[in-house]
Amino acid sequence: MSNYSKILMAVDLSEDSDTVAERALAIARNNDAALHIIHVIEPLSFAYGGDIPMDFSGIQDEIHQQADQQLEKFGTKHGVEKDRRHVVLGRPEVEIHTLAEEMGADLIVVGSHGRYGLALLMGSTANGVLHGAPVDVLAVRVG
Ligand code: AMP
Repeated sequence: MSNYSKILMAVDLSEDSDTVAERALAIARNNDAALHIIHVIEPLSFAYGGDIPMDFSGIQDEIHQQADQQLEKFGTKHGVEKDRRHVVLGRPEVEIHTLAEEMGADLIVVGSHGRYGLALLMGSTANGVLHGAPVDVLAVRVG
């Protein structure tokens, strides 16, 4: 079996993200692979668009800046190079698949809360990433 050469880890920047990063880093080291991070910001208009007649662009820019800063801290902490850190606007599942394809990743690493019952029916990002994934997906149990 061939080694992984490019790994994309997806983080929501919650405290669980360290667990996801530790696992992704270990796999990257063992495979001598390049490790990239993605954090996706969901546009406020997805949640409130149409319902509230308001211009969200200022708040959205502020959220983007904060995410940039948090990802910079997170990337530095885990030793992921600057040009391998990606903050993207959109739906997490879609943007994670898109970047994985663009960069030629051969493994995506996400966290999974192991939901059950109603929460499972409502879906999770890990499920969304798994469905239709262009490459292997590792769901690291968190929480
Ligand atoms: P969730 O299903 O939302 O609890 O998230 C599970 C996992 O999906 C997280 O541990 C991350 O790996 C990934 N994820 C969730 N939201 C995002 C996001 N906004 N950007 C990147 N990855 C995310």
